[in-house]
Amino acid sequence: MILHKDSEITEIKGIGIKQAQNFYKLNIFTVKDLLFHIPFRYQDTSSVFSIAEVKEKGEGTILAEIEDVQITYFKKKIVTVKVKDDTGTLRLTYFNQPYLKKSLEKGSIYLFDIKITNKSGRKNIYNSKFEKFKYNPENQIHLGKWIGIYPESRGLTSRMIRGKIKSLEKDISKIITEPLGEYLKNTDLETLPSSIEKIHFPENQKDIDIARKRLSFDEMLKIAFRIEKADIKRKSEKSKPMKIESNYLNNFIKSLPYKLTNDQNKAIEEILEDTTKKIPMNRLLNGDVGSGKTVVSAIAILNTIKNGYSSILIAPTTVLAQQHYDTFKEIFKDFNIDIEICISNKKTIKKADNKLIIGTHAILYEKELPKDLNLVIIDEQHRFGVEQREYFKKKNKLTPHYLTMTATPIPRSLTEIFFGGLDVSEIREKPKNRKEIKTFFTPFKKRNDCFDWIKKNIKESNLGNQAFIIYPLIEESEKLSAKAVVTEFRYLKEIFKGLSVEFLHGRLKAREKEKLLEDFRNKKINILISTTVIEVGIDIPDATIMVIEDAERFGLAQLHQLRGRVGRSDKESFCFVIPSSNVERNSPAEQRLRYFANHSSGFEVAEYDLQNRGPGEVYGLKQSGVPQFKVASIHDLKLLKKARILAKRILKEDNNPEYILENLFE
Ligand code: ADP
Ligand code: MG
Repeated sequence: MILHKDSEITEIKGIGIKQAQNFYKLNIFTVKDLLFHIPFRYQDTSSVFSIAEVKEKGEGTILAEIEDVQITYFKKKIVTVKVKDDTGTLRLTYFNQPYLKKSLEKGSIYLFDIKITNKSGRKNIYNSKFEKFKYNPENQIHLGKWIGIYPESRGLTSRMIRGKIKSLEKDISKIITEPLGEYLKNTDLETLPSSIEKIHFPENQKDIDIARKRLSFDEMLKIAFRIEKADIKRKSEKSKPMKIESNYLNNFIKSLPYKLTNDQNKAIEEILEDTTKKIPMNRLLNGDVGSGKTVVSAIAILNTIKNGYSSILIAPTTVLAQQHYDTFKEIFKDFNIDIEICISNKKTIKKADNKLIIGTHAILYEKELPKDLNLVIIDEQHRFGVEQREYFKKKNKLTPHYLTMTATPIPRSLTEIFFGGLDVSEIREKPKNRKEIKTFFTPFKKRNDCFDWIKKNIKESNLGNQAFIIYPLIEESEKLSAKAVVTEFRYLKEIFKGLSVEFLHGRLKAREKEKLLEDFRNKKINILISTTVIEVGIDIPDATIMVIEDAERFGLAQLHQLRGRVGRSDKESFCFVIPSSNVERNSPAEQRLRYFANHSSGFEVAEYDLQNRGPGEVYGLKQSGVPQFKVASIHDLKLLKKARILAKRILKEDNNPEYILENLFE
């Protein structure tokens, strides 16, 4: 009986209910899952050496006859195998595997993968992989060729996985069908069944490359489909086009106490242009911390209101919503704009329309939204979700124009892949008056010196300067470290005796947090110790010193976001990143922090983290359900481009694109 791709793995010969559990742990439930479980690396055992050569080289694959097998008991059960070929003999040792006596037959010929260890002059060969010689290399599964090493689970070795896949090998072309059919013509892509065969049983490196190329393409094509579909859908939605009220906007721009940067101007143009269309804008404003995204959004809002519609600005926290409210009241004071705040304790959206509403996500979900809503701005977006957009679409017949502003810069490859359908405006340039924030990597043992310096700096400024000291978020589960912070707080109060030191953390009520921040802003507090609640957006111009403790626990994007809390005036500002005491010298963790200290651009540090730690680590994509690539590289934008062209074509020409989508490698 030939299995098909949806057959359960228990239908494969030799996989019982118990063994199946081990496969389930690897998310392998069906035959397809098993075939799509692919090696993460390979070992080349295709060259066979003589015993004499291997003694010389110290390792390699040999073809040898078993002369003798002995079991001895010395603390452990030890199987000793004596093997020979024309050039010599070797003694192989296996620990705790007495059953091997059955599979290693005296007088038969085997392939062995040998590694000679040398411990204080004694040479040994332990637990060598082996496989009986089959005379025809085709029949060899585990040695004498390139072999794949797979992600394993407890009780399930690469050897077992490889064996089960081998039992399906001759049927692969029947189980896996080619989803792309005619579309493969004029491409340099291998078929899917052939790629699956090659990825498991390559004859050489070239086979591996060919297979990986095709599998990467399928992974990108899946993303490309999602992007193109979203694009088609968006283009079918309607929103109200708006006029650009140039004179009015110029008056506002003239009223600002500074000149806009080129990047700000360009972003404003792109955004306003989008809102003149009948299809909703879907744009990402990707900018560095402190690059002045707020004022860009203000101009889009002003234009919307002048056109007679309402606008919503959503901030990630109530504190930030409040801060925006104050900012907008101030900058719009001569423009007669109706502004309303919508946070937990001030939550009425009044009936009147043609206004600006500022709030947080949560509250707006419960509200009746203004009928004339035509612009939604999400500020300081960390997440990759699109839920809010979906939400606003459901509420109104017309889809409002939609602008997302990033909290820190997001590298190109990520915006393309995960925000692929979005248009992107970038602000790389910082306002001219900004001074570079001097950033230092401070080894743990210099921590107290650093605090002494800060104390002196604040005192010498006649309490004009202020400092943040940041700790990683205290989670409920981390009772221990929560306690540590309280102890730490007492310690710091002692160190900074004579200065006013306060502690702001996530468990305080919103009102208490606001009060602390207010006191800090009014310089009643000199040093604010905080968990990352202050991370995003907070604007306190006289805070000139940022200390980040246990800094290795933060992603670089987050560190950069924190660093952006200082250097917000023309005063000289400082940032100290201090690792915890268990970060070793020159460890990757220390290198990351040193890179951060030496680079001031948010785009650079985000790219560094993406290259070194991968998107899952950096952006928590694992949790958000965004698919992770098995083969494709997130940096391969060329491939994405090709995939998008094909996806577009398929969606246009094919009468069953779903079939293709379902049968791609994943
Ligand atoms: P972010 O992009 O991080 O949200 P903000 O919009 O909060 O940054 O801007 C940071 C500060 O820079 C604000 O105080 C704002 O008034 C000021 N600002 C914005 N644009 C300019 C500019 N072109 N020149 C000088 N200061 C600016
Ligand atoms: Mg901001």
